[in-house]
Amino acid sequence: MSQYQAIEIPQDGTKISYQDGSLNFPDNPIIPYIEGDGTGKDISPVMRQVIDGAVEKVYAGEKKIAWMRIYAGESAEEVYGTVFPDETLQAITEFRVAIKGPLTTPVGSGFRSLNVALRQQLDLYACVRPVYYLEGLPSPVREPELVDFVIFRENTEDVYAGIEWASGTDEVEQVRDFFENEMKVEGIHAGPVGLGLKPISQFATKRLVRRAIDYALQHGRESVTLVHKGNIMKFTEGAFRNWGYEVAEEEYGKEVITEDQLWDEFSGEQPEGTVVVKDRIADNMLQQILTRTADYDVLALPNLNGDYISDSAGGMIGGLGICPGANFGDGLALFEPTHGSAPKHAGKDKVNPTALILSACEMLDFIGWPEASSAIKNSLELTFQQKYVTYDLARQLPGSQKVSTSQFGRRIIDNIS
Ligand code: NAD
Repeated sequence: MSQYQAIEIPQDGTKISYQDGSLNFPDNPIIPYIEGDGTGKDISPVMRQVIDGAVEKVYAGEKKIAWMRIYAGESAEEVYGTVFPDETLQAITEFRVAIKGPLTTPVGSGFRSLNVALRQQLDLYACVRPVYYLEGLPSPVREPELVDFVIFRENTEDVYAGIEWASGTDEVEQVRDFFENEMKVEGIHAGPVGLGLKPISQFATKRLVRRAIDYALQHGRESVTLVHKGNIMKFTEGAFRNWGYEVAEEEYGKEVITEDQLWDEFSGEQPEGTVVVKDRIADNMLQQILTRTADYDVLALPNLNGDYISDSAGGMIGGLGICPGANFGDGLALFEPTHGSAPKHAGKDKVNPTALILSACEMLDFIGWPEASSAIKNSLELTFQQKYVTYDLARQLPGSQKVSTSQFGRRIIDNIS
């Protein structure tokens, strides 16, 4: 194992290995974790207690996670004097499966985004966010039980790649000059302007859509919907749609059909065992998930659309405090909730740890411990039905008992049968 300056490798754990393209999971895997900024400090310890408690109850001591603390954001600043130390990247690369709390990103200045930097530098190209309903959760929609989406959000490009030039700089004037004089582009207003680039590549689109279709096939899902704004951004978002269909048409056999084929060749009757690939325009899709919820299943989206749809879908099943997520590369996985560090609630033992706990459940499924993951989800449902909830849910659930982050965590462990 590599040498680290500030990271202590637990002696009672074994490293997850990677051979011939597949990961091998021991019974005592070393899992690096980043506590997170803001409310990360409230929810991360509770998440680890719940996971340890569930694993202990379910496997009676035969399995155990060896947690290994690594640092990013404020905690890294304290330890290393920088928010983004190299050895954090090195540890995630070496130990392969990690989990993180949210990290704060200053708006408009300073370091762009630690989260984006982590995903880009580790080439964690697929952000996967399952959005499903757990019994007992409050919801603003009439049939939240119809929500069962798995969002595949491209993680490395789009306007999120951070290729931007600030107004008033020499660089932005050089870029303006190039576009106006070389490319004969019209329409950039005179005076101060910020400019950005939106790359959507065939390579990144295809590997993301491939991953979404593979997931749909492996999990018996009905459809993959490509969500884009190709009617307006024809050569970026439109290309995402076209390359997505190309993957469906060229790389899979009869088990993957397009929506056109479904109607032209099968009169709208989906053959058993197939996945239908269809596409929707992003603004319409924000409406469709509300009005035609059951029609959607796996979704594949460029980075920005994926960001918007994730939070909107999350709102249908109890809000951001519930929504888990994961970022996957080849042979690497970094689990994290959809929500941010909600700084105004930090340090109050107040916010909902469910999203991070469910992210850890995704991790347990990934390492082949689904029994512990199911036990936690069942316990969460029981706890919501008991109306024993944190503040975010309490205000939506009449007659509920409002409890702290740590009280909620203890009840989850107690409710595991
Ligand atoms: P946020 O997700 O932190 O919070 C928005 C609101 O959602 C909060 O005010 C709160 O009402 C609710 N919320 C969030 N987490 C909750 C929880 N666990 N329990 C209950 N309610 C919860 O979004 P923001 O305020 O836009 O961003 C705050 C910071 O987090 C910013 O610096 C942002 O860049 C960062 N951020 C980080 C990540 C990440 O680490 N992946 C993701 C999103 C935002």
